[in-house]
Amino acid sequence: VAQSNDCTFRTTCPYCGVGCGVLATPDGQGGITVKGDPAHPANKGRLCSKGSSLAETVGLDGRLLHPVIDGARSTWDEALDLTAQKFRETIAEHGPDSVAFYVSGQLLTEDYYVANKLMKGFIGSANIDTNSRLCMASTVAGHRRAFGTDTVPGMYEDLEQADLIVLVGSNLAWCHPVLYQRVVAAKQDRPGMKVINIDPRRTATSDLADLHLMLEPGSDVALFNRLLVEIVDRGLVDEAFVSDSVDGFDKAVEAARADDAAVTGLSDEDLTAFLEMWTGTEKVVTVFSQGVNQSTSGSDKVNSILNCHLATGRIGKPGLGPFSVTGQPNAMGGREVGGLANMLACHLDIENAEHRAAVRKFWDAPAMPEAAGAKAVDMFQRVADGKIKALWVICTNPAVSMPDADAVRDAIAGCDFVVVSDMFATTDTAKLADVLLPATGWGEKDGTVTNSERCISRQRGLLPAPGEARHDWDILSDVGRRMGWTKEFDYQTPAEVFREYAALSGVAAGFGRDFDISALSDLEDADYDGLEPVRWPINAVRTGGRFFGDGKFFTDTGKAKMLPLTHRAPAAKTGPKYPFRFNTGRIRDQWHTMTRTALSGRLSQHLAEPFLEIHPEDAAELGLKPADLVTVESPQGRALLRALPTDRVGRKQVFAPMHWTSEYASAARIDALVRAEVDPVSGQPESKASVVKVTRF
Ligand code: SF4
Repeated sequence: VAQSNDCTFRTTCPYCGVGCGVLATPDGQGGITVKGDPAHPANKGRLCSKGSSLAETVGLDGRLLHPVIDGARSTWDEALDLTAQKFRETIAEHGPDSVAFYVSGQLLTEDYYVANKLMKGFIGSANIDTNSRLCMASTVAGHRRAFGTDTVPGMYEDLEQADLIVLVGSNLAWCHPVLYQRVVAAKQDRPGMKVINIDPRRTATSDLADLHLMLEPGSDVALFNRLLVEIVDRGLVDEAFVSDSVDGFDKAVEAARADDAAVTGLSDEDLTAFLEMWTGTEKVVTVFSQGVNQSTSGSDKVNSILNCHLATGRIGKPGLGPFSVTGQPNAMGGREVGGLANMLACHLDIENAEHRAAVRKFWDAPAMPEAAGAKAVDMFQRVADGKIKALWVICTNPAVSMPDADAVRDAIAGCDFVVVSDMFATTDTAKLADVLLPATGWGEKDGTVTNSERCISRQRGLLPAPGEARHDWDILSDVGRRMGWTKEFDYQTPAEVFREYAALSGVAAGFGRDFDISALSDLEDADYDGLEPVRWPINAVRTGGRFFGDGKFFTDTGKAKMLPLTHRAPAAKTGPKYPFRFNTGRIRDQWHTMTRTALSGRLSQHLAEPFLEIHPEDAAELGLKPADLVTVESPQGRALLRALPTDRVGRKQVFAPMHWTSEYASAARIDALVRAEVDPVSGQPESKASVVKVTRF
């Protein structure tokens, strides 16, 4: 139930894509207590340090409590009229592609749905993209190329049932801690379970691994190509599955044979151990995350993993399969709802005229873009070029988090009209807004999210909206009405939005799409309020379960596709001027640009300030002692960090966490150093392989 008699609410954590259930109890004075929800299938009562500190983050410090225009307090009417007017005028003068929304995997599905509908169906542009582009767009592209749809085949319990878990580019221990705890517990129960960690950097996750492969950054395709060859040479191909359910096998193997695993830099001993363990174990789950996705060959890396699972038929059955873990709480919901510039709602394809016509008819929409819009990096380049003249940033902080962040900050500052909806007035991006709109946040919002295993859960409002803050779906709907679409955006509750979305998924299912929650399209308000966590699909035929165990895929032929792939090195090359490979990532106790987690003093005790991991021999060559200040400089920007000599990183590789902003450490805006080079298929930037020089400060 949503709320028990003692006023405890069942909601979900707003941080990572594990999507843990939280029991939150308001104290009646604006505070809350939290604990893990034992009934939620994702966490079964566990919470990590971030989730268990949520109570420390619900105060009003730094909250934006009323609308602001040009730095002065305004009314909602003034702010929304101005927003609608500026967007209308810009579209009339320069066309629909002169405006854009940049949204967030922190948004709830209902917020995302309304934003996507407004931009794609009514404004008539596909210029809506999301910070999930930085997180997992390569997985989306890889899934779609192999399966025909962006479908996660398995579920968390597969990790517990596996005999071998291969973690690729994933620091699960810090980035998805509760899922990691489930793996730890499963390994304790079944000591025969093995774990391989594939990561150029040794992390907390490596402690659990029976084998850690410190491969060269960006060489994953070569590694999995080598594995595919080994699968074939050992006679481990599932011939019946490949014959009935897979296209492209021969060409994929031919390309794999032509590739060279030497680029991985792995010893023969490590490589052999990996091949033995993977090929010698039936129940393998290969988990992949941002180390795979955030790469100029991210989509190919994903498909190289999928190739191996498809060749062996190891997909869609208990305890085996490829498994992507998402970064954000609702990155999956955003993908499902069409929050990416290259997708329509409900996994329909923007390039498909029949799909476009069906969505247009369903929405009774005046316009529908015929091609993909600007993906994140391209979007901010178009802002810089003056092609996008009105920008609405919702629930995210691109002036810090985008690659080449200084250039993005300058682009936003130079944009004709910028609206920012946020909980906080103090973010680097909020400071650049012409119009600031106060939004509700976790604890106040009401809606749904989808986690990494396709489980839809409710986030529930348990605290009153502070000041004049409003929900994002409500703000977007109001602007839609003020732009002239009164009937189409006449939503009064998130339940109304959700029912419409669920009904649209039934239309999508008519085209053979995977995402189908049509059985929820007639939920009464009370049933929506009480919705239990449920894994999709949710239709008249089935609820939840795995995909693809039956060998049926969502491509035109009904078969999965193996792709011919070849290793490509990261775009930026090290050399005498920039001799270090620059890796970025998270730390355990901070989230994104720290707007919420920095409110908890407890979370700052873990790692209190920005740092640069550097190999001890490189540190010695530079005359660096532990905690010395160093200047880190790339062709894009520079930062000042404290040196942390450690052999967790390889020679000529350095690592820095990406959380700090100008609010907390103005010299440590890490993404200002990151090169804005993207994967050509997914548009996802290469956040883990820029080049820098390091000097003593
Ligand atoms: Fe929240 Fe993720 Fe931690 Fe779960 S694992 S409590 S979803 S941050």
